[in-house]
Amino acid sequence: MTTSTPGQSRVLQVAELFGPTFQGEGPSCGQRALFVRLSGCNLDCGWCDTPYTWDWERFSRDKQTVDMPLAAIASWAAGLDTDLIVITGGEPMIQHRRLRELAAELVAGGHRVELETNGTIAPDAALLEVISAFNVSPKLNGSGIPEQRRLRRQALAAFRDCGKAEFKFVITGPADIEELVQLQTELSLQRVWVMPEGTTEASVLAGLRELAEPALTHGWNLTSRLHVLLWGDERGR
Ligand code: SF4
Repeated sequence: MTTSTPGQSRVLQVAELFGPTFQGEGPSCGQRALFVRLSGCNLDCGWCDTPYTWDWERFSRDKQTVDMPLAAIASWAAGLDTDLIVITGGEPMIQHRRLRELAAELVAGGHRVELETNGTIAPDAALLEVISAFNVSPKLNGSGIPEQRRLRRQALAAFRDCGKAEFKFVITGPADIEELVQLQTELSLQRVWVMPEGTTEASVLAGLRELAEPALTHGWNLTSRLHVLLWGDERGR
């Protein structure tokens, strides 16, 4: 990774830029995309597949994170012939203000920008305007995180009401399904997707088969993890 730029104020903490590849999950699964993966997260899910973005006991922050000027990210994206850019993490919303600036630059460059978030931090009006779609992934009990940390109902309601959000839930077992049924009713969530947890082809396929019937029963969409089926847990894919 490159080093920080002293005195550079319009920077984001970036874990990695990669693509073109395919969006592997959710409503845009299979679409050609570039990925901007930001560093830092306000949660610590037990099954997290990107711990190198936030777990500084297991990974070196200096080696895994770079302070990158917004202009450098926009310039990288401009050199690649790809319409869709996915901003992900970690949790991108903890860098909310500069994130908004980056999204605006990318949109000005002719891109469509989707944002992946755990849904704990509500978007402001400026971000709502510039992002074309939010993939909101609230965490269920299987994440191992206490409910008061992982479910922020006001923030989830803000995403629900913005008209640009789809909700994607990682399901690790029957208890997660029960919790999702209750949460969906309580918050009147529409456009719900469920996805298995797993970083191997075998675990993703097994999870998809287990989730198919519950998804049909409850009116949910089902998403694979295409990048895992194609490339396992290889980084930068
Ligand atoms: S919210 Fe996402 S990035 Fe953060 S710990 Fe959970 S799975 Fe990992």
